[in-house]
Amino acid sequence: MKKILILLALILAVVAFFWFDAGQYLTLDALKARQGEIDAQYRAAPLLVAGVFFLAYVALTALSIPGAAILTLAAGAIFGLVVGTVLVSFASTIGATLAFLASRFVLGETVQNRFGARLKAINEGIERDGAFYLFSLRLVPIFPFFIVNLLMGLTKIRTLTYFWVSQIGMLLGTVVYVNAGTQLAGISSLRDVASPGLLLSFAGLGLLPWAGKSVMALIKRRRVYARWTKPKRYDRNLIVIGAGAAGLVSSLIAATVKASVTLVESGKMGGDCLNYGCVPSKALIKSAKIAQAMRHADTYGLNPVEPQFSFKAVMARIHAVIAAIEPNDSVERYTGLGVDVVQGHARIVDPWTVEITRNDGGTQRLTTRSIVIAAGASPVVPDLPGLNESGYLTSDTLWDAFAKLDTIPARIAVLGGGPIGCELAQALARLGAQVSQIEMGERLLPREDDDVSALARASQEASGVHVLTGHAAQHVEEGRLILKAGDAETPLAFDALIVAVGRKARLTGYGLEELGIDTAKTVVTDGYLATVYPNIFAAGDVAGPYQFTHTASHQAWYASVNALFGQFRKFKADYRVIPATTFLDPEIARVGLNEREATAQGIAHEVTLWPMHELDRAIAESETGGFVKVLTVPGKDRILGVTIVGAHAGELLAEYVLAMKHGLGLNKILGTIHTYPTMAEANKFAAGAWKRKHAPERLLEWVKRYHAWRRG
Ligand SMILES: Cc1cc2nc3c(=O)[nH]c(=O)nc-3n(C[C@H](O)[C@H](O)[C@H](O)COP(=O)(O)OP(=O)(O)OC[C@H]3O[C@@H](n4cnc5c(N)ncnc54)[C@H](O)[C@@H]3O)c2cc1C
Repeated sequence: MKKILILLALILAVVAFFWFDAGQYLTLDALKARQGEIDAQYRAAPLLVAGVFFLAYVALTALSIPGAAILTLAAGAIFGLVVGTVLVSFASTIGATLAFLASRFVLGETVQNRFGARLKAINEGIERDGAFYLFSLRLVPIFPFFIVNLLMGLTKIRTLTYFWVSQIGMLLGTVVYVNAGTQLAGISSLRDVASPGLLLSFAGLGLLPWAGKSVMALIKRRRVYARWTKPKRYDRNLIVIGAGAAGLVSSLIAATVKASVTLVESGKMGGDCLNYGCVPSKALIKSAKIAQAMRHADTYGLNPVEPQFSFKAVMARIHAVIAAIEPNDSVERYTGLGVDVVQGHARIVDPWTVEITRNDGGTQRLTTRSIVIAAGASPVVPDLPGLNESGYLTSDTLWDAFAKLDTIPARIAVLGGGPIGCELAQALARLGAQVSQIEMGERLLPREDDDVSALARASQEASGVHVLTGHAAQHVEEGRLILKAGDAETPLAFDALIVAVGRKARLTGYGLEELGIDTAKTVVTDGYLATVYPNIFAAGDVAGPYQFTHTASHQAWYASVNALFGQFRKFKADYRVIPATTFLDPEIARVGLNEREATAQGIAHEVTLWPMHELDRAIAESETGGFVKVLTVPGKDRILGVTIVGAHAGELLAEYVLAMKHGLGLNKILGTIHTYPTMAEANKFAAGAWKRKHAPERLLEWVKRYHAWRRG
């Protein structure tokens, strides 16, 4: 209400200005004609005239009414150079700041809420360089000042910064105009004041801060390289450290564009995903799902049976799956594609040199123009007393350890309620182990919405997992994990303990410390994935913030292309549309924002929920658990995020990922033919649910009357 009142007052003031034709006083001729009269008034009451002038100037600028240039000339003519400059400088800055504040008050919040996600990059840019932008805008007269005031009000620049940068930025122009005003008689048009040459000089000045910034960047770059001697020539264009998803894709891109590239891997080709992560876990999940289906075969009219199986055979299948995929990531394949693959441990010894301790015992040093660090991440092991003594498994070790067992451990404790802990706990429980899953927080999958976490928990419990949320592991003693919930301590006996409490980037032991490459939780990179050394890049889990195979290969494109061609053009990594799936049964897939994030970020959103139990194919398959939840911009079909819980949710999500990436709204999904009967129809029905909510009820009332009339 307050906003509307202020907006009305502003509009009224502007309308009044034009209604009373106040603009007639703001022309050069009017000023000249009244100069003598105003001079006399100023001599009679200098403070009053100066005060009225000041207020008029502030009001004119605050209301974004054209005429400031004439008033500035008037200041010179009436008050002289010094007093005129002081008056105009403060009045124009105060007026500009008022216009800025009005724009922020009336529209700022709405704009930020509505376009929050899209404005993220602008907000970050303003936070970083807002003063620079503003200074240039004040000096380079491309945009009229009133537009600058109104637009900057929509950003998150601080008011104080806005004030002082505006004052300094406008000072030169003010002096020029006030000075010209002191010679008013000689001016026949505003063009006489600001010649093209003068405007060009201002533009040059406006660009000065940017030039300064570039010079600073150059100095900084020289400084990081200062203590190293650059080689005269290079053995390679690119060396890639690590042959997981990020490293494989980086080296493949380099070889494809005919660069000379070496890929160094100390462990297994394919990294975590193939050997310890996605591939074995999904293979395990499939066996577990079949076991569960056998147990519940009566759902499909068949006799249920308790699955009889050799755990060794299940684990052997997992290793066979890895072996089947292995050739895709093998040394032979990559060598064939033109990559020089070296198996060994890489260490960066200077910004252009990598030393490799080969697995066969030899060492070699290679110089290179650029480096991509793709060293991945490893499981976090909490500092629990007794843990090392009791022994534990992580995703790195469990596949080999379990492969040696004839039967699955009877009691398994899984520490961690994130995606990896959930997937492993459910699969192992379905394969017959008595699994307890321990999570310190109140919910499983804490990044997801409450309803999603609740479904995940229900699904775990239906699979036989004993879920212990709100339980913190204290220590381990004699095959028992001591848990604390509130004040109570409970022992939990286990035969195998799996630690799945997160993964941390590999940051030590290969030269980052010696080179002074910044690390926080990950290698610190800029938007182009470059480290503090502009020729050293990072991609994948080691760079974060995401820890997925698909984000690792996505980043690899940016890191390798920027490493090889950055001197011509650099590409900023695009993180706008990142999908992820937790392969529980039912699957949980998400792209973009969920309700929790949208609310936390203050992004206005509308939620459409469509339940899977209404989908024919889901009913036919007896897989009716879950929903499609779509977040859209209020009143619009633009998708902010989608969470799908259901069978094959990971596959269903692809349509929404494509839609979000290419700006397609729900209307487009609704207008697309989906094969009947498929799970993918759920996407269309969710769009239909959104459409029904936005049906034009009034128009439909009229249409109803029309049909009634047609019936006679
Ligand atoms: C159980 C589990 C399940 C998962 N499931 C999924 C999933 O379903 N979907 C998904 O998208 N993601 C999943 N992930 C995550 C996924 O595995 C990782 O995000 C992905 O492997 C990251 O790839 P990367 O190339 O960054 O690192 P990595 O795959 O870890 O590769 C890094 C490689 O660098 C090597 N290396 C490190 N330092 C050096 C050095 N100095 N010299 C030479 N070599 C070095 C390492 O040996 C390693 O092979 C899962 C992870 C786990 C643990």
